[in-house]
Amino acid sequence: MAKQFDVAVIGAGAAGMMCAAVAAQRGKRVVLIDHAEKLAEKIRISGGGRCNFTNINAGPANFLSDNPHFCKSALSRYTPHDFIALVKKHRIAYHEKHRGQLFCNDSAEQIIQMLKAECAAGDVTWRMPCKVESLEKLDDAFFISTDSGDIECASVVIATGGLSIPKIGATDFGYSIATEFGLRLVQTRPGLVPLTFDGPSWEPFAPLAGIALEVEVETGTNKGKGNKRGHFREDLLFTHRGLSGPAILQISSYWQPGTPIIINLLPEMDVAQELIEGKATLKKQLGNVLSQWLPARLAECLLATNGLAADARLADMPDAKLRKLGDAVNRWAIVPTGSEGYRKAEVTLGGIDTRELSQQTMMATKVPGLYFIGEAVDVTGWLGGYNFQWAWASAVACGQSV
Ligand SMILES: Cc1cc2nc3c(=O)[nH]c(=O)nc-3n(C[C@H](O)[C@H](O)[C@H](O)COP(=O)(O)OP(=O)(O)OC[C@H]3O[C@@H](n4cnc5c(N)ncnc54)[C@H](O)[C@@H]3O)c2cc1C
Repeated sequence: MAKQFDVAVIGAGAAGMMCAAVAAQRGKRVVLIDHAEKLAEKIRISGGGRCNFTNINAGPANFLSDNPHFCKSALSRYTPHDFIALVKKHRIAYHEKHRGQLFCNDSAEQIIQMLKAECAAGDVTWRMPCKVESLEKLDDAFFISTDSGDIECASVVIATGGLSIPKIGATDFGYSIATEFGLRLVQTRPGLVPLTFDGPSWEPFAPLAGIALEVEVETGTNKGKGNKRGHFREDLLFTHRGLSGPAILQISSYWQPGTPIIINLLPEMDVAQELIEGKATLKKQLGNVLSQWLPARLAECLLATNGLAADARLADMPDAKLRKLGDAVNRWAIVPTGSEGYRKAEVTLGGIDTRELSQQTMMATKVPGLYFIGEAVDVTGWLGGYNFQWAWASAVACGQSV
């Protein structure tokens, strides 16, 4: 006979554990199911092992979605301060690293143990590792058949995350269930991912692997729906296959294949103006001038790709050429060939179309009793603790009403 619960949560990651704990502490009988051998691997590897568990500045503007207003309700009802209060209650020491990003002082494992303890406080039943074979709805009840017995429940919460890092258990389960129940999806693609470049125009930059510098980067357009334009000031890193570093991870979520990203390699300076005005006073050779401001190998490369010799005398250069060089530094436009894909992506953009869900509860309006939370939903945060904040906020919105 099927075992009976009020709520089955499928996926015991960040969102699933939080939702199970909140619902169970309200007195619901909750079963939490995950197919993985090891609990919450994504939390464990997050933030370089220290879990950047929230960002004190998190707000709707830090998220991408086809329906940008959807996330507002949940984010405003469960804020970073609410999560910080939970972290403090569990005596987990933390620190702010950069622009509001909060990390554990010791280890991401502490966040996993905290969520486990919150689940235990509500007496959540665990099924793990456990494979879900099918999910059906008959009248007002859901029937889940698994390799460790059948479950009957009034509500099902899908918290199986996105497609990134398949080797630690990511699957398309959430999207398949949504499709089976007739819900629309927003096309998925890798986000927060290094960008790759190849071909003759990239060749001169390939030897620059290892160089890092702070830049401004932008892409996209303000036309159409959703937050389509990204603009960030962060560090960029040249790699063997292209570009990475926080600046590139951030902009990758806004980048559309075939379009350029525009990089300002010296955001503090109008390079053309400095060069033209400095003809009489600056160092004599172009290479020496540029490498005062940029890593020398990058400066040489930019000169070469713009047909200029490093030993050319600045005083002899026509203003038009200096303007072109200035543009190459302040508005370097390059078209990525692609990205490193889900293998390296920190998140999956797109997912369950939020127009199918209630912003108050995360329930599918067409399928009463079926809920979607966390990364499976078409709400994707910037790099810097925003994705966990969405996982917590969407989980609490659901856990309080399921
Ligand atoms: C390397 C890396 C570092 C990151 N660092 C940060 C960070 O520091 N800060 C931040 O905010 N975000 C970070 N992220 C993003 C963050 O980890 C995710 O956005 C967040 O974990 C999403 O939570 P979730 O609960 O929706 O999904 P997940 O945490 O991915 O959990 C999904 C769960 O569902 C289970 N599951 C999947 N398919 C099935 C199935 N078919 N049956 C049963 N169970 C299934 C999985 O095993 C997993 O336990 C990072 C991501 C990566 C890859």
